[in-house]
Amino acid sequence: HKSKGPQTSRSVIEHISHPYEGSVVKKIGKMEVDRMERRKKQAECKAEKVELNKKNAHNPHWELNQMISDYCKKLHFQPLTMDDVIEDRLITVCVRKRPLNKGEHDKKEVDVITVPSKNQLIVHEPKSKVDLTKYLDNHLFKFDYTFDENCSNDVVYRYTAQPLIKTIFEGGFATCFAYGQTGSGKTYTMSGDVSRNNLNKGIYAMAATDIFHLIASPKYKHLNLIVTCSFFEIYSRKVLDLLNHKADLKILEDGRQQVQVVGLTETVVSTVGEVLALITEGTTARTSGQTSANENSSRSHAIFQMYLRPCKKFNSIHGKFSLIDLAGNERGADTLSSTKTTRMEGGEINKSLLALKECIRALGRKKAHLPFRLSKLTQVLRDSFIGTNSKTCMIAMVSPGVSSCENTLNTLRYADRVKELGGGDLQHL
Ligand code: ADP
Ligand code: MG
Repeated sequence: HKSKGPQTSRSVIEHISHPYEGSVVKKIGKMEVDRMERRKKQAECKAEKVELNKKNAHNPHWELNQMISDYCKKLHFQPLTMDDVIEDRLITVCVRKRPLNKGEHDKKEVDVITVPSKNQLIVHEPKSKVDLTKYLDNHLFKFDYTFDENCSNDVVYRYTAQPLIKTIFEGGFATCFAYGQTGSGKTYTMSGDVSRNNLNKGIYAMAATDIFHLIASPKYKHLNLIVTCSFFEIYSRKVLDLLNHKADLKILEDGRQQVQVVGLTETVVSTVGEVLALITEGTTARTSGQTSANENSSRSHAIFQMYLRPCKKFNSIHGKFSLIDLAGNERGADTLSSTKTTRMEGGEINKSLLALKECIRALGRKKAHLPFRLSKLTQVLRDSFIGTNSKTCMIAMVSPGVSSCENTLNTLRYADRVKELGGGDLQHL
């Protein structure tokens, strides 16, 4: 009985196939031809690839470059200019892409970021299929503004910190954050090109220039305001005064939840030159005693604040602008590092950046619970997240190279969550 089964089925197949035999043979013949053609094409493709590989032997990333440039050919570019509309927002979230640097050019690093328009950015993430064919996973992000590698600090300033100057004159609190992995351009944006001692082209200096301009203007002159500055860093839960030999400061919270950094140096300034001198002093203190350029400074948050105080009532604050160069947000570094201290620092940074995100979101939702006690950073910035006239801007910095791709995507996802922009969620193209 058992042996009957297969026989029956075979005869069924024979029976069914018989009347169509001719067409089956034809079909098989066509399949064979198709297969040969496919093989021929594959062989040609392979030969072409071998040829291209040979031709591009000097550049191991040519294929990725090619895929990106093919992709970009389809795009219509319309970048941000110096005269686009500046929109008034409670929370502004934007991204700045820095150019590839010389070292990266020398290493033939591939630029995987495209900024097609004034508020969009695409990350071309290289991926491989199971058969090892390479392809691009293109992630589209939308922000309030996107700055490409050709944007100068002036352009960035115009759309980020500058619109907030008016807030502090109108009795409010403004904050501007530089967020991103180490080496992505946070300090370049906030302090200026420190290596060339070109500090007057940083956001700190440009904000100071505008503040001095407005203080003497007919509109605000009658307020008789005085400008003061403080500069400190938060490093592993410690608050260090950058204008007083890194003195270790305590944070106190009074019964009304008012937070004070006790003993923080606050210097009266009346010219941009004086502000620049303080920035130089603070930056030097921040990086002193380091063996490598980014050793400690990349693991601390630097907080530069400019206060407007009425000259007759010096104890009260009319307005305050906080400009913050955040610690590097990269993750990998924490798991790779062997020492317990650096791991703990990494954990602390993560915690404060998560707390920061929650506080900005709470500011956006108004009246929401403000979880400012979650970290020292959010604690010292408490008054900037409450009040009827508080405004915030976050500039997420990204490095263009393919080797930073994972960190870049993390940075962009964080920035995206700080503020859910209409349709600004991650999309795959
Ligand atoms: P971070 O503070 O985020 O660690 P930096 O601001 O120190 O990064 O930037 C790293 C390097 O890249 C520095 O040498 C800096 O001069 C350079 N750089 C950053 N952004 C730009 C830019 N927009 N244009 C030119 N060079 C830049
Ligand atoms: Mg830095």
